[in-house]
Amino acid sequence: MSAQDTVLVVGAGPAGLSAAATIASMGKKAVIVEREDILGGAPIISGYAKLVPSGEWAKDAIGRMVSRVEGDGNVSIHKSAKVTQVAGEAGNFTATLSNGDKVEAGAIILGTGFTHFDSINKPEWGFGTYEDVLTTTQMEQMVTAGQIRCPSDGRVPERVAILLCVGSRDRQIGREWCSKICCTVSTNLAMEIKEISPSTDVFIYYMDIRTFGLYEDKFYWKSQEEYKTKFVKARIAEVTMSPDGRLLVKGEDTLVKRPIVIPMDLVVHAIGMDPNTLNPEIAKTFGIGLEKHGFIDRAEQYTNSQGTTRKGIYVCGAATGPEDIDTSIAQGQSAGARAVADLYGQQKIAS
Ligand SMILES: Cc1cc2nc3c(=O)[nH]c(=O)nc-3n(C[C@H](O)[C@H](O)[C@H](O)COP(=O)(O)OP(=O)(O)OC[C@H]3O[C@@H](n4cnc5c(N)ncnc54)[C@H](O)[C@@H]3O)c2cc1C
Ligand code: SF4
Repeated sequence: MSAQDTVLVVGAGPAGLSAAATIASMGKKAVIVEREDILGGAPIISGYAKLVPSGEWAKDAIGRMVSRVEGDGNVSIHKSAKVTQVAGEAGNFTATLSNGDKVEAGAIILGTGFTHFDSINKPEWGFGTYEDVLTTTQMEQMVTAGQIRCPSDGRVPERVAILLCVGSRDRQIGREWCSKICCTVSTNLAMEIKEISPSTDVFIYYMDIRTFGLYEDKFYWKSQEEYKTKFVKARIAEVTMSPDGRLLVKGEDTLVKRPIVIPMDLVVHAIGMDPNTLNPEIAKTFGIGLEKHGFIDRAEQYTNSQGTTRKGIYVCGAATGPEDIDTSIAQGQSAGARAVADLYGQQKIAS
């Protein structure tokens, strides 16, 4: 096959896996380059539990996407590798990889995803100070293990607080965006905690609840009505520890405009989605632009929505901004189809 029959896909999360499968299904060759030694992106690397909205375990759902490309003769895979240099132009790129290999490709798709917000950047909310303050990804790992316990002493928590918007919608720390999926993930997590540990009461502290689209009744109302999750509309000031060793979530109840302090056994940060920390390096290597928050910029919103600012290089999934898995998969399909269509157009012109 010539370079024009090959598309290089960088990143093997839901978006990149979907792009590669789409390219292969059209009889073209996809070459995947993934920096980790496993495929599947954040849901696999961070050990998510059951996904919203399907309720399927991440390892099974995303595992199927991985098996599909691994079993496809049109897809080849480079793990533990990054692209260090890109030469050429649309229709005829040569990418040099960190392992010394070279890939010739007519188009490139970036499915390089996001980085989880590091809660250390929100020290007043107790992460890194108290053992029993966790993130949603750590809590999902506990759900996967089937036991809800306080890491400090192994006791079953009487009360768990989930704090929303940690590292999102927060101008003070330069995160103006909404991470889109964490309200839904958190309302679901509250139900999973209750199923595993029926004696535990779960509180969700929120500014607004954004269980968008069809998720309102399936997650928000169900969590509240069937699983008795308690929703507290509040502005959180800090998380401290009482003399008896319980965590104190301090803030203002913004409905009644009064200070509130509720003792908790476990506090969970619903962390948001930051731009991939490698984006400045990715922008330089691939010669593409970033938008003002640091995610990968798109060419044109409506007529070339998976294009980047460089012709022949496309982007999909959470690399473009906070996205859920369904949308990332749809964007991967869209980028794969668009890349192949543009290549086919160029071949017709060349012949
Ligand atoms: C706590 C939490 C829970 C979530 N739960 C759900 C859920 O239940 N349902 C849902 O729909 N969404 C959920 N999401 C959102 C979900 O994680 C994203 O929608 C999804 O991971 C985006 O897929 P992606 O392929 O675009 O990016 P990613 O999953 O981030 O994958 C990107 C891949 O690219 C690789 N990569 C990065 N840079 C490079 C590079 N330079 N070179 C090579 N490879 C690179 C990475 O290693 C990774 O494998 C959750 C998000 C969070 C924060
Ligand atoms: S989805 Fe919900 S928790 Fe996440 S940033 Fe938006 S409002 Fe906050």
